[in-house]
Amino acid sequence: MKILIGGNWIAKSDTIPVINPFDGQLIDTVPAGTSQDISAAIAAAVEGYEINRNLPVHQRISILKKACQIMETRFDELAKTIATEGSKTIKEARKEVDRAINTMTISAEEARRICGETLPFDSAEGSENRVGYYYRFPIGVIAAITPFNDPLNLVAHKLGPAIAGGNSVVLKPATVTPLSALKLAEILLDAGLPGKILSVVTGHGNQIGDALVSDERVRMVSFTGGVETGQEIMKKVGLKKVGMELGSNSPVIVMDDCDLYNAVESCVSGAFWAVGQNCIGVQRIYIQEAVYEQFRDQFVERTKKYKTGFQLDEDTDMGPMITEKEAIRVIEWVNEAVEKGASLLTGGTRKGTLVQPTVFEKMPSSAKLDCQEVFGPVVNLYPVKTLDEAIAKSNAVNYGLHGAIFTRDLNQAFHAIKNLDVGSVIVNDSTDYRVDLMPFGGVKRSGLGREGIKFALQEMTEPKVVCFNL
Ligand code: NAP
Repeated sequence: MKILIGGNWIAKSDTIPVINPFDGQLIDTVPAGTSQDISAAIAAAVEGYEINRNLPVHQRISILKKACQIMETRFDELAKTIATEGSKTIKEARKEVDRAINTMTISAEEARRICGETLPFDSAEGSENRVGYYYRFPIGVIAAITPFNDPLNLVAHKLGPAIAGGNSVVLKPATVTPLSALKLAEILLDAGLPGKILSVVTGHGNQIGDALVSDERVRMVSFTGGVETGQEIMKKVGLKKVGMELGSNSPVIVMDDCDLYNAVESCVSGAFWAVGQNCIGVQRIYIQEAVYEQFRDQFVERTKKYKTGFQLDEDTDMGPMITEKEAIRVIEWVNEAVEKGASLLTGGTRKGTLVQPTVFEKMPSSAKLDCQEVFGPVVNLYPVKTLDEAIAKSNAVNYGLHGAIFTRDLNQAFHAIKNLDVGSVIVNDSTDYRVDLMPFGGVKRSGLGREGIKFALQEMTEPKVVCFNL
């Protein structure tokens, strides 16, 4: 495919192959964008901002709704693109397309709800004759940078609200999974989006990222990805707004009064969805002692039934990791844990990019798998005596995106809700639960700000005060 700069599709001689991580087969190529391409895209976006901020809201709504209709007609193609350029199975990919359509639909709906309010100026002495209000205006050119693991819906989470709010966007998708993003851009143009409002520049983040995030014409950097990249970007952005959606190693607490079958099913799915390459994937499970062995045995039995393989086979439960390098890293972390005394219950092997779903117990706190984000199909089980012990261990990391608790006891649930240091607490489901309208984001190294359309719109617009002196 080509890159999109200000409404023009541009081919380049220097290209990057896009390959299927399962078998290394070439799917397509994309241009290796340069800093000059980024600069041209930003110049177009400066004009695009003027266009979009002046578009009546009903026109923005029509464009977004039309894009949803086109996404429906291209549903199978989009699902297949996700499942061949990335790790997801076709079943997982279909769910992502459904969610991306939902994200764009909510963006269309929220566009009409970008409201301000009147202000009680006369509550301040000396302001008796003042009346006024504030409304929200778009922030300007937004640089959007996205990761590989949800190549369509995480792009929709940036483009939908940015367009709804009257901004323009320069998007840099992940180099390994750029096709879904380019197709969404194609759909938006076909839906009538004026060309200069959206540019998509493919290319290596460590080569073109600086040009994008440090440019003063960009007013906001909306980033989703790893914490190290997020920290690098923070050093470069200068004085502009920033949204950071970063990683985690999510904890789940299983109390002895819960529906154990539900807990096992939900946690297995939450640990191995998208090969564990999921920012809210289950990595640490704290299980009350009375049900520990029962939970562990059922969990391992259920995990052993997982079928890994080709993403497009309907009966594949788990596809390949995104690259062999990542698969090798995960196995290195597994080996380190074993050397440090962790007990491997199942998995721990790989063939190419296929890593078997892996379950550990007795994970020492010095192992990377205990405290860092594995972003792979590995989960640790820990017995705990009390809820407070589980909460303390859940919080003893430098991340805090989602936390979960399984219990039938409302008091225990509320105790966890109050004390888990995370952006969301999920009760009686695993951490891998999200709908696209909820405020989504974390604390500590999990990020800054919130996505979820209504909340992204708050980040992507600013209040402007209007005051009349009568
Ligand atoms: P990543 O390596 O941080 O890359 C994310 C994006 O940043 C890619 O487009 C990448 O481009 C780009 N990038 C790399 N270096 C850059 C630089 N110096 N300046 C500007 N951009 C740069 O992350 P990933 O491996 O794709 O994704 C996995 C991470 O994302 C995990 O930590 C996961 O938890 C996190 N994540 C968070 C959320 C959330 O909503 N909180 C959702 C999904 C994923 P290249 O591809 O060219 O390197």
